[in-house]
Amino acid sequence: MPAAQFAVFGHPVDHSLSPRIHQAFAQQCGIELSYRIIDAVPEDFASAVRGFFDEGGRGANVTLPHKAAAFALADEHSLAASRAGTANVLTCRADGQLAAHNTDGNGLVRDLTERHRVDLHSHHALLLGAGGAARGVAWHLLDAGVRTLTIINRSPAAAAALADAIGEPTRVHARYWDDLASIGSYDLIINATSAGILGAALQLPFSVLDSRALCYDLSYGAAANEFLGWARTAGARCAFDGLGMLVETAADAFALWHGQRPATEPVYQRLRRQAA
Ligand code: NDP
Repeated sequence: MPAAQFAVFGHPVDHSLSPRIHQAFAQQCGIELSYRIIDAVPEDFASAVRGFFDEGGRGANVTLPHKAAAFALADEHSLAASRAGTANVLTCRADGQLAAHNTDGNGLVRDLTERHRVDLHSHHALLLGAGGAARGVAWHLLDAGVRTLTIINRSPAAAAALADAIGEPTRVHARYWDDLASIGSYDLIINATSAGILGAALQLPFSVLDSRALCYDLSYGAAANEFLGWARTAGARCAFDGLGMLVETAADAFALWHGQRPATEPVYQRLRRQAA
């Protein structure tokens, strides 16, 4: 019997770590699978996904810029996907219908709380960005217990829309990017912008950083260097990139598809060594 087919869709997507991560999980669990990269431009995304599943594909990861399109394509949506309005996992059900899920928020919280041993309960968090990834993590940070969440975005309407969608006005606030210098300090700063991968500088004032602050960039590799460098220069207690989140989100997708959650730490450590 041929190995079950999985894939990651994105554009550009050539450097995706997902094939390596899923093959490492599969080896660990004694599962045989095929996992490939499918580069699809936005106009071709829907037909490429349908073609993949029509030919027997079992599951797909979806990355930039297709996460909203993946959500729209699916027949049913998990709570996490519905809240975010985006999906990073598509699964073909036995009846041929597509189920959408979003594992970003769970992946971030697991990486923070289990790998980096952060107790989120006491934190006043500043979330930079209000795009797909920010929407994917915002509710999970609140569910994990952050005391307040301040969302700030270059285009203010998106930050206000996310705060409104969450609907907890005593805990969640939207602020203007232009107000950064006067909004006070935070002990958890999460960069969910794509500035790093776009090669743009965020130009954040040091005043947003509390002396005990922990900083986290959802990006990893070279894309995280600017924000993490800023955090260390500003005196952050810890500064983490999103490599651990990537591995945790992949493990959640793997669990959805194969019914078992692999151990993530060996895979994370191997990728970290290779990145070094
Ligand atoms: P989106 O395109 O949906 O959103 C991008 C966000 O970044 C928007 O809020 C945008 O603001 C903001 N932004 C872009 N450029 C700038 C800039 N120069 N200054 C300030 N803000 C800027 O992307 P995603 O939300 O999907 O992804 C964001 C990042 O998170 C990416 O780097 C992605 O790789 C990473 N990510 C990592 C994951 C992991 O597992 N580690 C998982 C998911 C995402 P505006 O609205 O004004 O345009």
